[in-house]
Amino acid sequence: MFTKEFIEALEKRDVKKLRTIPKSDLHNHAILGGNLEYIENWIGRKIPKLTQRITSIEEMENWVNQHYLPYIKGTTGFEKAIEAAFVQAKEDGVVKLEMSIDVYFRHFYGGSAGKLIEVLKKLHKKYAPEVNFIPELGFNRSVSQDLLIEWFEPYLDYDYFKSVDLYGDELAQPASNFKQLYRIAKSNGFKLKAHVGEFGDAESIQKTVEILELDEVQHGISAVKSKSVMRFLRENNIQLNICPTSNYMLSRVEEIKKHPIRKLFDYGIKVTVNTDDVIVFQNGVSEEFLMLYEHGVFSAKELDVIRLNGLM
Ligand SMILES: [Zn+2]
Repeated sequence: MFTKEFIEALEKRDVKKLRTIPKSDLHNHAILGGNLEYIENWIGRKIPKLTQRITSIEEMENWVNQHYLPYIKGTTGFEKAIEAAFVQAKEDGVVKLEMSIDVYFRHFYGGSAGKLIEVLKKLHKKYAPEVNFIPELGFNRSVSQDLLIEWFEPYLDYDYFKSVDLYGDELAQPASNFKQLYRIAKSNGFKLKAHVGEFGDAESIQKTVEILELDEVQHGISAVKSKSVMRFLRENNIQLNICPTSNYMLSRVEEIKKHPIRKLFDYGIKVTVNTDDVIVFQNGVSEEFLMLYEHGVFSAKELDVIRLNGLM
């Protein structure tokens, strides 16, 4: 499916062409996943670019709080941010979008999960009907499990969200604190994902997969430091949804050239390439693929295997 076109576009370094070829984005934080230009036009000012690498989620949150969130206020801001994320996906040629909406966001609608879902359906239909949007619920790891369960429960009346993800400060609480939450999600048929192995070590990845019974891992790049963890991921067919620019900008990897995605791929682990937060890191999926190609991390053919992984 579009293999020849994709390889040609990479070889010609033609990002416009790359944007027309079907891709997935399976690691996307919605309100931070918007098209930059679209948001800038709406707020009527430029968002300064993050040019210096940072070293923590806290630093990233500070940047977001200073340069982005002041202009994205309340329900209107929330909806504009989601709109921009759909526009970004469409313009980037993303045909499969697993985008994560924080479980708290129903509070923009008087606590109504139904109203939030209505708004998401409306925005999807209006701005990116051709994109297969697979709604995901995000749980902030700094929040207590009791509160997350309370926020989660109203969504269970609707068969809308398909997966869950645990995100934010990976070291805030141990995975075992979220066991009950994940059992509820599993028994309600959700696909289970969590951020792990971005700041944490290789062993924490296996542990989290086992404790929460994860189907997929967001990042998981530190698995590269342990053969036995890599073997575990391969044998259990755990997909890693990796975001190269985010990893570089958050100083998780020294250089793109040395990104562990190469070793993980060679080990036979299923990997995908994703954006994380376009507003902060400025690269769409097309740019991520081109960057990996230009830095010699993968051949065009190998990148096509990775592209197709995401579409399966
Ligand atoms: Zn993320």
